[in-house]
Amino acid sequence: MTERIDGHTLLIGLMAYPIRHSMSPTMHNNAFAKLGLNYAYIAFEVGEERLAEAVQSIKALDMRGCNISMPNKQKIIPYLDNLDPAVEMCGAVNTVVNDDGVLTGYTTDGVGFVQSLKDEGIDIAGKKVVITGAGGAGTPVAVQSALDGAAEIKIFNQDDDKYPVAQHNAELITEKTECTATAHHLEDQDEFKDALAKCDLYCDATNVGMGALKEESLVTDPSWFHQDMIVFDTVYSPRETKLMKVAQEAGVKHVFNGLGMMLEQGAAAFKLWTDQDMPIDYIRDLLFSEE
Ligand code: NAD
Repeated sequence: MTERIDGHTLLIGLMAYPIRHSMSPTMHNNAFAKLGLNYAYIAFEVGEERLAEAVQSIKALDMRGCNISMPNKQKIIPYLDNLDPAVEMCGAVNTVVNDDGVLTGYTTDGVGFVQSLKDEGIDIAGKKVVITGAGGAGTPVAVQSALDGAAEIKIFNQDDDKYPVAQHNAELITEKTECTATAHHLEDQDEFKDALAKCDLYCDATNVGMGALKEESLVTDPSWFHQDMIVFDTVYSPRETKLMKVAQEAGVKHVFNGLGMMLEQGAAAFKLWTDQDMPIDYIRDLLFSEE
């Protein structure tokens, strides 16, 4: 690392709180080193109260850009000069690019989802999609799927503060894209079961399957799945979730965790800053080969 840093090194930051657990600095710095790119990526513990000053520093220090995570993903929007169309729809930013003092906000989580499917030879275009969750992951997954040509999206959410977000996302997608999207209560299990039976792709973008909910799955009966569908869990720790086990039991041919999505969202940001392709296989082996 020290051998790479000189008077020309361009700085990229990560602004979030808390942030010390993040894998992004390790991912990006190893990718820069592998490609011999003169950039350095540093995590800055920045919450809401110092966000305005921190964004000014991107311009003042002529940084190349930054990643943005919670609690700043929505709050940064007023401080930026331009927004990518997907940001306008998602209402959240995870990547900022500084082009000669002009700051543009992007969201790469949805791009990461769609690209990780492409890496497996699957095109979202024309697919009937069911998504559970309408938070920081579910929203960009739904929006980018629609922008990339999904035929229909049914968003199921439990009756909490994210249900109105699911409704808003569905209305916006139907209005702004060629895709028809609808919001549904997850509590209506008959409707959920029926939607799964008729869909091509199911993506779970809830917290179920990780942390305290590690042993849980929103689908427990394998008969709710059919073999020709795709089942995608955005969770990547653990690598194999309860949902994935149920899908495998049902004989579903394409079952994925969220690791590819996580790597591809990073790669999309990397491309925006450097115009280079992140060496994804190298990074996957380096950081995630242990499981
Ligand atoms: P969030 O807090 O913004 O949203 C959580 C969502 O889960 C909401 O829609 C909420 O209604 C739903 N939910 C929570 N508990 C539930 C339960 N018991 N039953 C049904 N629904 C429930 O969180 P987020 O940032 O959207 O993260 C959601 C998931 O996405 C997490 O598992 C996270 O690991 C994953 N994620 C993956 C990636 C990736 O790159 N693979 C990126 C971001 C998030």
